[in-house]
Amino acid sequence: MVITSPRTLFPYVAPDFASKCFKAIPSKKLKLSNLPTPIHRIHRTEGGVLQPLWDLNIDLVVKRDDMSAGVELGGNKVRKLEFLLADAIDKGCDSVVTIGGEQSNHCRATAAACRMTGIVPHLILRSKRANSVSNDAKEKGIDSFGYVGNIMYDRICGSFIHMCTPGEYGRFGNKELVRKVAEQLEINGSKVYQISVGGSSGVGTWGYIEGVNEFTQQGSDMIDHIVFACGSGGTAAGITFGVGLAYHEKSEQTPKIHAIGVCDDPEYFYNEVCSIGKDMGLDLSLSGLPHNSIEDFVLDHLTVHQGKGNGYAISTSEELKFVCELAVETGIVLDPGKCNCVIQFQS
Ligand SMILES: *Cc1c(COP(=O)(O)O)cnc(C)c1O
Repeated sequence: MVITSPRTLFPYVAPDFASKCFKAIPSKKLKLSNLPTPIHRIHRTEGGVLQPLWDLNIDLVVKRDDMSAGVELGGNKVRKLEFLLADAIDKGCDSVVTIGGEQSNHCRATAAACRMTGIVPHLILRSKRANSVSNDAKEKGIDSFGYVGNIMYDRICGSFIHMCTPGEYGRFGNKELVRKVAEQLEINGSKVYQISVGGSSGVGTWGYIEGVNEFTQQGSDMIDHIVFACGSGGTAAGITFGVGLAYHEKSEQTPKIHAIGVCDDPEYFYNEVCSIGKDMGLDLSLSGLPHNSIEDFVLDHLTVHQGKGNGYAISTSEELKFVCELAVETGIVLDPGKCNCVIQFQS
C-alpha cells in the first residue's frame, strides 16, 4: 500500500456519463474523505416519528454523507473541498477566503481542510451580532461569536475570522465580500483562492457528480425519490446533473429529485442550479437527452421545496423535538441549526 498525504494531488477522470457533456472538467482532486459513505435502511419502529412514512408504505434509506470524515471536516462539504482545494494548490495559492453563516458547516470544514493541506483559512461569518462590535474592536480583529459549535472548530484550526452583517451580505453579495477580503490579503502579499458560499461553484459541484457516481455503484436502482437539504445549491446541482445524466446512460427509471431549500426561495435555487451548470460547461446537445436547454433539464428533474420555516438556522421547538426523537429512534443526528430555543426533554 502506498501511503499518501492529504496534500497529494490525484489525477481526476470524470465518470463516463459526465465526461462527454461537460466542457470544464477538473483534472485533479484531493482525497480528504472516507468514501464511499454507507447507505443505511431505516428500521421501521412502530409508533415512532417516522410512522407517517410507514403508513404510506414508504421505505427510507439514508446515504450517510455525515460519515464522510471526522467531526471537524465531515458532511457534504468535504466532497466539494476535494476539488476546490486541489484547484487552489494547483494554482499555487497559500490562503483561502470563504464565507457563510455564523455557525456555517462549510466554513468549519474549509478551515480543517485548509490546515490539512497547508493553506491559511480566512472565514467571513455573517451575523446580526457583527453590528454590536465597535469599530475599534473590529480593527483589532475582536469578534463576538463566542466559543461554541462550529466556531470553536474554526478557532481551534486558527482561522482568521472576519465579520459581516446580514445587511452587508445582502448589499454586496457573498462573492463581492470574498473578493474584498482577498484583495486586501493580496495587497499584503498572499496568493488567495476565493471560495463562494457553500463551495457551490462549477468546481466544487464536481463533488456531487462524483457522489452520484458513487451511489449508482451501491445498488441504487431501488430509489424512486432523492430528498436533501439545500443551502447554497451545489449539492442540488451535482445531484440533478449527475442523476439526470447517469440514469439516462443506464436507461433506468430516473429518481425524482427533491431539494428542500433552507433559505431563499425555490426560484432562486432553480436559477442557481442552472447557473452552476453553465459554469461547469454543461452542453446537453452532447448527452442524447431531449432537453433543449439547461433550464428545461433542471425543471424536468428537480423540484425545490420551500423549507426555510422561520428562517435560516432558526429552529422551532417542534423541529428540535423531531431532531431529538429521530436521534433516539435511529442514532442519526440531523443538523439542528443554531439551537435558539430550549429542547424540552421528556422523562
Ligand atoms: C451545506 C449543507 C447543506 C446544503 O448543501 P448545499 O450544497 O450548500 O446546498 C445541507 N445540509 C448540511 C448539513 C449542510 O451543511
